[in-house]
Amino acid sequence: MVFNKLLKEYKKIWALGVAKSSIYYDLTIFSPKESIKDKGEALGILSTLKKQILTSKTFLDLFEKAKKQANSDFEKGVIRVLERELDYYLKIPEDFMVDYNKLISKSSNKWLEAKKKSNFKIFKPYLEQIIEYSKKLANFLNSDKEPYDVLLDLFDEGMNMKKLDSIFAIKKELKHLLDKVLENEWPEESRLKDLNYDKAKLRLLIVALLRSLGFDFNRGRIDYYEHPFTSNITNNDVRITFNNKNKDFADVLTSVIHEFGHAIYDLQIDEKLAKTPVSSQENMSIHESQSRFWENIIGRSKEFMSFLLPLIKEFLNIDTDEDELFYYFNLVKPSLIRTKADELTYNFHIFIRYEIEKAIFKEEVSVKELPELWNDLYEKYLGIKPNNDKEGILQDVHWSEALFGYFPSYTLGNLLSAQIMFKIKDFNNLLSEKNFAAIRLWLKENIHKHGNIYPPEVLIKKALGEDLNPDYFIKYLKTKYLKV
Ligand SMILES: [Zn+2]
Repeated sequence: MVFNKLLKEYKKIWALGVAKSSIYYDLTIFSPKESIKDKGEALGILSTLKKQILTSKTFLDLFEKAKKQANSDFEKGVIRVLERELDYYLKIPEDFMVDYNKLISKSSNKWLEAKKKSNFKIFKPYLEQIIEYSKKLANFLNSDKEPYDVLLDLFDEGMNMKKLDSIFAIKKELKHLLDKVLENEWPEESRLKDLNYDKAKLRLLIVALLRSLGFDFNRGRIDYYEHPFTSNITNNDVRITFNNKNKDFADVLTSVIHEFGHAIYDLQIDEKLAKTPVSSQENMSIHESQSRFWENIIGRSKEFMSFLLPLIKEFLNIDTDEDELFYYFNLVKPSLIRTKADELTYNFHIFIRYEIEKAIFKEEVSVKELPELWNDLYEKYLGIKPNNDKEGILQDVHWSEALFGYFPSYTLGNLLSAQIMFKIKDFNNLLSEKNFAAIRLWLKENIHKHGNIYPPEVLIKKALGEDLNPDYFIKYLKTKYLKV
């Protein structure tokens, strides 16, 4: 009874969330320039309303009563998720939050300016302030823990430096593997990268591809936008964006498949969970494991090329074969830009950011020294050095938005995606048969349908029968890059 009342009250917060994400998507994709400021203000007001309802006496009373009665996995999940959210709203003072948000919006602008001018000095004073604020925020949430551990837990419940250090110890083996693959002269370049084709046709190809993978256009849409992202408005309205500015069609298609992986997660959550606090997966590594599973494990596989080839021929009028496509989708070359990295080098970009973030919060490095540390670590892990700040420390938006502790989830997602592949029975056959429906069903039954009922470690154990195990990722890469 009290649980139903709590969920009924929560629906107001859900509705505000729908309004917020609809406005945000509209603002980002469709809005006339002059309306952006007004919509930004509207979003701010909706956030205040959310806080008012969530921290109202009515809601808190219901929450406390429901907490004592929580019995089923679902009920316990609801309490766990709400408790994390309430923690955020109740422990962090309102005026701090206002200043913090102002600082973030200022520093994002300064980061953009600094990146354009490739000059870290422009961003430096803002980054210093952002770090100080992040430390304070961590302290408000839990002053007993190391600040960076608190921040890691915000993006991945239960994660901390101790666990990450042990998981990321695979970097030694990865480095060894990368060196071996480079020694074997795996292709670094492809002529397909620079071919001309009809961009409008690529858009049609993308729609055809999404339909084949199982994207339901009655429950979502795709729009053009500079940066690809997925927006979960409701469990029946999940939107993805794509960018085809680039000639490199493998880059365009893999990023569409990546966003599809995020979208299908949200679309396959049990409809009984809709409009409740556990109706979406908020842990970044788990979500990222799904996007990377579709992007890399499926979308860059040899089997997938036989599916793609006729589409490439039909829509883009490009003459090629499966082999050439496969290597084009899997070029290996140490490079400076994270978002352009291949499967073998990608995680080094993350190890570097993780090492730097740890050093920042342990106060082992000053902000002034960061560009040099950045460049040295690129030299150490990838044997290349940025020529300027734009292709070095200024490349990612995350730090300007105070997203410290976010980067590791990308690698955790990669590791999990390989582990999932080994867990799905007959995966290679399903892939050869292009039986995407069976793969979707496995993901739904074992991962998606649970929404955010379980914390990441529990969900992983439930779905995979063991804890996260990075060995599968090494095994996957070895099979793909050393034996093909
Ligand atoms: Zn993603």
